[in-house]
Formats: sequence, C-alpha cells, structure tokens
Amino acid sequence: MKIERIPAGVYAANCYVISSEETQKGVIVDPGGSVDKISGYLEENGIEPVMILLTHAHGDHIMGVPELKQYYPVKLGVHKGDLEMLANASVNLSSQMTGPTVGIEPDFTFEDGDVLTAGDLKFEVIHTPGHSLGGVCFVIGDYVITGDTLFAGSIGRTDLTGGDYDTLIDSIANKLLSLSDDLVVLPGHGPASTIGKERFGNPFLRGRWT
Ligand SMILES: [Zn+2]
Ligand SMILES: [Zn+2]
Repeated sequence: MKIERIPAGVYAANCYVISSEETQKGVIVDPGGSVDKISGYLEENGIEPVMILLTHAHGDHIMGVPELKQYYPVKLGVHKGDLEMLANASVNLSSQMTGPTVGIEPDFTFEDGDVLTAGDLKFEVIHTPGHSLGGVCFVIGDYVITGDTLFAGSIGRTDLTGGDYDTLIDSIANKLLSLSDDLVVLPGHGPASTIGKERFGNPFLRGRWT
C-alpha cells in the first residue's frame, strides 16, 4: 500500500491517494481542488481510481470532486450525517470560497464501524462528530486519516454548521485516543503526527485520557 499526500485547492487541504501495489487501484480522500495535481499523480503512477471518500463535506475538502468524477468512473462516499451539507453549497461553504460551487449527492453513504474495501485496501470508518455532524476518520493499516477532527497539536473548529466543542473532544478522547499510540495521524491540514504524540502533547486533550 502507498499513501501520497497532495495539498489541494486554495485552502491546501490534504488530499490523500491510497493505492494498492497489488491491484493498482486507488482511493482518493478529500479532493479539495488541484485536480491537475491529483490526476497527474494517478497517471504517473498508473493508478486506477475507484472511489472518493470524504472525511466530511466542507468546501475545502470537496471542491475537486465534480471534476474528478468527469474524468474517472469513481464512486463518491460520505457519512450520512453530512448529506445535507454536501448537497447545499451555502452550508458546505463552497459558495463563499474561491473555486467551484459544489452541491452534490454521493453514490453511497457509510456509518460508524463500516469497513469499505477497494481491492485489497480496507478503510474502517470511525464516526467522530463535532467538527461536522457526519465527520469521520478512516483507519487504514497503520494510519488514521483524521480530516478536520484532529490535527498535529490542534483540533478542528466547532463554530460551523453542526459543530460542537464538547462533542468533538468526546469523539477524539473516546474514539481516537483508544487507538494504538503508534498509529500515524494524517490530518486534513498540516503535517502528520501519531496518536501517541497527540495523546501526550495536544493541549486540547490534556486530562482527557487514562
Ligand atoms: Zn472542515
Ligand atoms: Zn478543512
């Protein structure tokens, strides 16, 4: 398995392309724009994209979706809690951002505990509401993609539609800090971390684990 981080769109949200060296199939997480960079990476590496997964439906994570769907026969998946946000450009804020205005329906929805597969790639869904109603993290092998739930040394904002501070802290404390310290955290913005580093060093999580 290979994971490539491609900061995408004007907000430089991290798009991740996860691909299998066995099947050459790939999954694109959170394409927020820069479709030329994403498709360039896919083509240079001979990766056939089969699925787009969203950690949540904010504009900076979805604005590349319509263009990618024009080029590739990919299925789009989102947590059912973010369906309304995905469909409504003023709720997902793409109408106020630099880039395409996006209001779309997914091809499928998922929920907590689901395991999504693409060839030999497996994505375990952890529902982590608080930044948005349908925010999720994906565990893939030794990695966890955390979207705007958890960043290196910080957490997501909670002042947008569906956001709630206590819910976000509970999601992280109960569902992410229960994971192995060695798991590599791949956030929606900024550099990578590990669950262990965040458990001990993230100022927002002090006193929230045992
Ligand atoms: Zn967000
Ligand atoms: Zn974001």
